[in-house]
Amino acid sequence: MREILRVERLGKNHGGYHGETIDIRAVLRDIEAAAQHHGWTSESFGQQGEFSLIALHRTCRDEAKRRRIYLSTGIHGDEPAGPLAGLKLLQENRWPENAELWFCPCLNPTGFVLNRRENADGKDLNRDYRHLETADVRAHIAWLEHQPRFDLYLCLHEDWEAHGFYLYEQNPGQQPSLAEIIIGAVQKVCPIDPSEIIEDRPAKNGIIRPNLDPRTRPQWAEAFYLIMNKAQLGYTLEAPSDFPLATRAAALTTGIHAALEKFASV
Ligand SMILES: [Zn+2]
Repeated sequence: MREILRVERLGKNHGGYHGETIDIRAVLRDIEAAAQHHGWTSESFGQQGEFSLIALHRTCRDEAKRRRIYLSTGIHGDEPAGPLAGLKLLQENRWPENAELWFCPCLNPTGFVLNRRENADGKDLNRDYRHLETADVRAHIAWLEHQPRFDLYLCLHEDWEAHGFYLYEQNPGQQPSLAEIIIGAVQKVCPIDPSEIIEDRPAKNGIIRPNLDPRTRPQWAEAFYLIMNKAQLGYTLEAPSDFPLATRAAALTTGIHAALEKFASV
């Protein structure tokens, strides 16, 4: 018998995110401690106010079947589920043997101090990957340019207007899709957004496959930069901010595990 998932909406978000917040300094300390404990290397690629912008790297044991996977989150400071999910993933340390991982766990720490989407200068960093007007994004891209190409990227976000979890797929090479696998796993822990239009794009069962050429877009999100320069397959996971923070973090960790288990365990 199919269980019915019941998670109550909080009804707190009117005109923006008004839910729980996190102590980003403590979360980043715990992230670095968990990464170090489990043998990741940590590199600072920039400075944002008092914070180092960090990238973590984990080599894989099975090099012959290596899959290179890039994860990032924390580019929007009013989306706390991403860094929390990252911390949980690092603490669990449950990764496929053949996954080599690069992880930027918080691309906009000053945004979290202010609980707002933009950085301390009021810039939405996730619109700056085409014109590189901010030092934060320039530093991130300079770091990305020194990394190899990835086989898969996964960017973790939240949406305060969403009615449930959803994702964007970019798959110009028509590789086997991970979208249904991610949705199938996440729906056990978090409702899926049933809307047929999400963020002005057609959606089906929480899956958006934007049919557009990034070159036609005036501004680029990180995901556009990645698909144009670093990877042929990737997903942006969007947790619904109007549900409890623990539910949203669980949605993101569950989605990542489902994607990695399918993609890397070959
Ligand atoms: Zn976001």
